Amino acid sequence: MSQASLAQEASRRRTFAIIAHPDAGKTTLTEHILLAGGAIRAAGAVRARGENRRTRSDWMKIEKERGISVSASVMTFEHDGKRFNLLDTPGHEDFSEDTYRTLTAADCAIMVLDAAKGIEPQTLKLFEVCRLRDIPIITFINKLDREAQDPMALLDEIASRLQLDPAPIWWPAESGNRLRGMVEVATGTFQPYARKAPGAADEPDHPEALPLDQAGAYFEEGEQASLQDALDLVREGYPTFDVNAFLEGHMTPVLWGSALRHFGIEALLQAIGDWAPAPKVMKARKEAPPETRNAPAPEDITIQPGEDQVTGFVFKVQANMDPNHRDRIAMFRMASGSFKRGMKLKVQNTGKSLSVNAPIMFFASDRELAEEAHAGDVMGIPNHGVLRVGDSLSETGLVRFAGLPNFAPEILQRVRVKDPLKAKHLKKALDGLAEEGVTQLFRPEIGADFIVGAVGQLQFEVMADRLGEEYGLDVIFEPSPYAEARWIAPAEGATRADVEDFMGKYRPQMAGDLDSDPVFLAKTSWETGYVTERFPKVRFLKTKERG
Ligand code: GDP
Repeated sequence: MSQASLAQEASRRRTFAIIAHPDAGKTTLTEHILLAGGAIRAAGAVRARGENRRTRSDWMKIEKERGISVSASVMTFEHDGKRFNLLDTPGHEDFSEDTYRTLTAADCAIMVLDAAKGIEPQTLKLFEVCRLRDIPIITFINKLDREAQDPMALLDEIASRLQLDPAPIWWPAESGNRLRGMVEVATGTFQPYARKAPGAADEPDHPEALPLDQAGAYFEEGEQASLQDALDLVREGYPTFDVNAFLEGHMTPVLWGSALRHFGIEALLQAIGDWAPAPKVMKARKEAPPETRNAPAPEDITIQPGEDQVTGFVFKVQANMDPNHRDRIAMFRMASGSFKRGMKLKVQNTGKSLSVNAPIMFFASDRELAEEAHAGDVMGIPNHGVLRVGDSLSETGLVRFAGLPNFAPEILQRVRVKDPLKAKHLKKALDGLAEEGVTQLFRPEIGADFIVGAVGQLQFEVMADRLGEEYGLDVIFEPSPYAEARWIAPAEGATRADVEDFMGKYRPQMAGDLDSDPVFLAKTSWETGYVTERFPKVRFLKTKERG
C-alpha cells in the first residue's frame, strides 16, 4: 500500500474511550452510540434485561452477577466513511489500573457527566489520567430527561475543577419534564425532544431539527423567547469551539442529551467523527536486537501512523472470552502500518516471532477474522501466553513503546489452595492471571507462599471465581502480614550493591514479581517510611514500567 493511502486509512480512524463515574450512563451511552452508528439494530443488546444479559462486554459470569463491567473490550464499527473503535473501560473503581492501561490505547475520551450530579470522584480520577496522557476530551452531559442542574453551573464546574475551557456546542432547553430539546449554539438550529412513555422502545423518533425561530410549536408560553435570551448569553459568555485548543487539551466541546432516550447521540457521534483526532504520532524507542552484544544505546524515535512498518502494543490480555475456547486474547493497538492476516510480528523484549493467523476484530454484532488493519485499529490476537500486557510488537521487533505501568497494589493477600496436591497447579493459574494483569503475584524469597496484590477487593472476587471456573481450584484468601509492596532500585549515584545490601538485611520481606524483579513487602506504611529514610541509597517505587 502506498504511503499516501496508508496515511489516508489511518486518518479515517477514531479510536476513543468513554470515561464516567459509575451510573452516569456509560453502558447506556455505549449502546446508543452503537445504535446511532448502525452497528446494532435495537437498543438493549449491550445490556439486555433478564435472561439475555450475556453481552459483548459482559464476558464473565461475575460481571453478570454484579451488573458491572469488569473487563475492557473494544467495539468497532463503520459509519459515515469513518471507522470507529470504541474502547470499553471498566467503570468500577477497583479496576482503575485496567482502565488506565486501556486509556493508553485511546486517542480521545468522551467524558460522561450525570446532569444532576456533575463531576463525581471517579470522573475526576479518570480525567487526570487523560490529562497526563494528553488525551483530548469531549464532554457529554447525560440524563437531561431528568431534573438537571443549571447548565451554566455545570459548565462552571468543568472550568473550575478541571481547568478546562468548556465550549458549549449545544444548549439545552430545560430538563426533566420540561425538556423541550436543545439548540445548536453556532447555528441556532433547534433539535426538539420527543418525550416517550416510560418503558417505551428506545428507538429514536425525535422530530427533525429546524431553525429556533420556527420552532414555536415545541414550546409553551415564553419558553422560546427565554431560550433565545439564554442563547445570546451563551454566545457572549463562552468561547467558541476551537479545535486546536481541544486537541491541545485546553478546551472541551460540551454536548448534551439523554442516552436512555436516544437524544443528542447523533450529534455526539458527529462530534467524534469531526473532531476526535486520528491516530496520533507515538513516541517509542528503537532497541538493539535482544542477542546483540555491546548493543548501542536505544534511540528515541517517533512512529507516524502512515509508516510502512506494522507496530503497536498490547494494552490488555483477556482470557475466556468465548467459553467454548480456552483462549487468551491479547488486545493489540496498532500505531502504524498496514497489517495483513498471516503476517509475522516480533515481540520486542523477548525477540519471539509470532504468525498472526487468526486476529479478531470486534464488530458490535460479531467477532470477525481481521483480514487487514491499520493504525488506530485494535485487534485481538489469540495466543498461548506468548503475549503479555505492555509488550510491543513490530515487524522488525526493535520498536518499543513506553512501558505500561504496574501500580503498587493496595491490598495484599495470601492465597492457598484447599487441596495441597494442587499447589503446583495454583502457581500456573496465578501466573496466568498475573500475566493478564488481573492481579499481581509476588513470590517471597523465603517460604512457599503466594502473595497476591490488587488495587481493590473486587479483584480478589474475580480471581477466586476464575480460579474455580477455569482452573478447577478451590482457593482460600487469607490476610497477609504485609500492607504495602514497593519495587526497589538504586537511588541516583548508588549501585546495585547498595540495593543488595538492603535486600540482605530484609531478606524475609523480599519477594519477586512476575518478572522476578525485586519487591519489598512492608508490614505497615510506617515501615515503608522508615526504610525509605534509613536507606537513602535505595528507591522504593510505587509504580513499575514494564518493557
Ligand atoms: P454506567 O454505570 O455508567 O455504565 O451506567 P448505566 O449505563 O448502567 O446507567 C446507570 C443507570 O442510569 C441505569 O439505570 C440507566 O438506565 C440510567 N440511565 C442511563 N442514561 C440515562 C438517561 O439518559 N436518562 C435516565 N433517566 N436514565 C439513564
